[in-house]
Amino acid sequence: MEDDLMQNTNLEQDFLLFLKEIQGYKEALALMEWDSRTISPANALESKADVIGFFSTKIHKLSTSKKMGDFLKELKKKSNNDVLHEIIRVCEEDYSRSSKIPAEEYQEFVTLQSKAEIAWQEARNKNDFSILSPYLQKLVDFNKQFANYWGYEDQPYDALLHEFEPGMTTKKLDAIFSKLKKDLVALLTEIKHSTKDNHTFSLNESFEKNEQNDFIVYTLKKMGYDFNRGRIDETIHPFEITINPDDVRITTRYDESDFRMALFSTIHEAGHALYEQNIDKKYANTPVFDGASMGIHESQSLFWENFIGRHPLFWKNNRDDFLRNAPKSFKKVSFDDFYKQINEVKASFIRIEADELTYCLHIILRYEIEIALINGELKVEEIPKLWNDKMEAYFGIRPKNDLEGVLQDIHWATGDFGYFPTYALGYMYAAQLYQKASEEIKIEELIEENDLIQIKAWLSEKVHQLK
Ligand code: ZN
Repeated sequence: MEDDLMQNTNLEQDFLLFLKEIQGYKEALALMEWDSRTISPANALESKADVIGFFSTKIHKLSTSKKMGDFLKELKKKSNNDVLHEIIRVCEEDYSRSSKIPAEEYQEFVTLQSKAEIAWQEARNKNDFSILSPYLQKLVDFNKQFANYWGYEDQPYDALLHEFEPGMTTKKLDAIFSKLKKDLVALLTEIKHSTKDNHTFSLNESFEKNEQNDFIVYTLKKMGYDFNRGRIDETIHPFEITINPDDVRITTRYDESDFRMALFSTIHEAGHALYEQNIDKKYANTPVFDGASMGIHESQSLFWENFIGRHPLFWKNNRDDFLRNAPKSFKKVSFDDFYKQINEVKASFIRIEADELTYCLHIILRYEIEIALINGELKVEEIPKLWNDKMEAYFGIRPKNDLEGVLQDIHWATGDFGYFPTYALGYMYAAQLYQKASEEIKIEELIEENDLIQIKAWLSEKVHQLK
């Protein structure tokens, strides 16, 4: 009896050490990714693609190894520990999906991902979609093949969705998105024809980035972002990345003629970072140390960006602090006008700059194109035209070039199909969380008192710590 228990404990420890080894490679990869996207010299990227391929393949091999299979089989019989149970569940899911992709094919895919990202950058520099197009076609083909390996009941796209939002299906999304699209297009048209609230002033005054930074750091500290376990750097595309539980980094992009860019994107990324900084450490060094799904992750960033950061009560409290460094002309703008401008609704080309109302339309457009690609109804070279046609139909504006259209996002170039819908789902989850927070912690009073830490604590308890 005692021997059995002893063996069991050793098995658990060996398993956790094995997971730690895999996690070590993941940490190295994350650091490389952060480096590539922030400070790495441009010419270093191509040779780094092979190293990234090497590390990713190593992770894939370990995660699908016989050793992993044996651990899972043995531990499943013996373990009655809740934490371990959860770790086993996640590892099994990963093992089952990853094992279905042959190792050589996987390595080819990850190397292609890195190369396609470089091609995407070049295509953007030259404003020429044809540079990316052959890579994209191969990535679509890989995704179709993966969907076949993973299997699906209804649509191949479901198998891809599962990677980012387990349990979500095309059928459910079709129903949600078709209603949302109809209502949003109608609302946007109405707003376009409205003559109310035409601004006579501009918030696009020159606002030096160091001056902007003060208010950003102040806001992040109020939210509870731990600067001893994170840092902020500058990139073209802001992102959050977790190196390990005590190193959760974010990046931002300053626009000196529009402070809204850096401020709201940093609050957004900090929302992701708060999630990662507050996951229960009992899951550290295992694949459970991650968001519950991409949609839930996005709910956290959007919750802070739009439901808190654009709330009138947040600005009632913080506007004076903000104005201290802001251009003088801002001081003349009335509170109402200021508030309306940071919540302005306007049809625009770029998703990450979109307002709350039009954002989901950007996602629906991408979702419809992805489905057509994966179902083989659309060829890659036909994307730009279809993209622009949809922009015209939903937003009433047509991109002048592919930078304003299909080349703006990195997701397809990194082979991620089925990811975009999680952004729109995140919005819907965030709205529901806000509703719940109104009932449980009187959230508006907390915003009014500028007690954002209590809001973070509620989110940690109800979202960050749960699996
Ligand atoms: Zn996000």
